[in-house]
Amino acid sequence: MRLDASPSLALAVALATASCGGSQPDEGVQGVQEMRLVLETDAPFTEAADFQSRLHDTIDVALSYWGGSWSDLNGRTITIVDAPSVECGGGSALGCFDGNVQLTTRDPGLGTFVCIEETVLVHEIGHAVLGDPDHTDPRWMQMDSVAAALSGREGYSSEGLVPCVPYVSVWRHPLDAP
Ligand SMILES: [Zn+2]
Repeated sequence: MRLDASPSLALAVALATASCGGSQPDEGVQGVQEMRLVLETDAPFTEAADFQSRLHDTIDVALSYWGGSWSDLNGRTITIVDAPSVECGGGSALGCFDGNVQLTTRDPGLGTFVCIEETVLVHEIGHAVLGDPDHTDPRWMQMDSVAAALSGREGYSSEGLVPCVPYVSVWRHPLDAP
């Protein structure tokens, strides 16, 4: 079990699902980093009881990998959708960072992800910390330590519990390529 002793790591997540429009995001605690979460997917892992703690932990691991902090996400929105891809800079991808983060819960080849750790969240957090839209930092190709830190957890499929397998190959990006 993970103990979160630092108040600065508390995540003020405001759930604002598309299906219940008009809900206002929580203001959060003053001084605590605030990030907005929009869910437009019914992937089973997003409905699991541990979703928010897993999201928090995955972001935490990603931030320490990229050398960032929660302040890099302050005021940003993470939108998680169920779609084959999201639009990104005129192209399409499994995730995008354009000041805010967008992620799909589905990969055309892999199917619906069974946990937040399988999405490209770790990659997009990298953009939130580094910028680096052209992927010139060598860390884009060295994410095995992140995968190791996030592995061994449970995933949620429509049939029940399955292993959650972080896909480094999905998170990586060839260097010097858009
Ligand atoms: Zn990227």
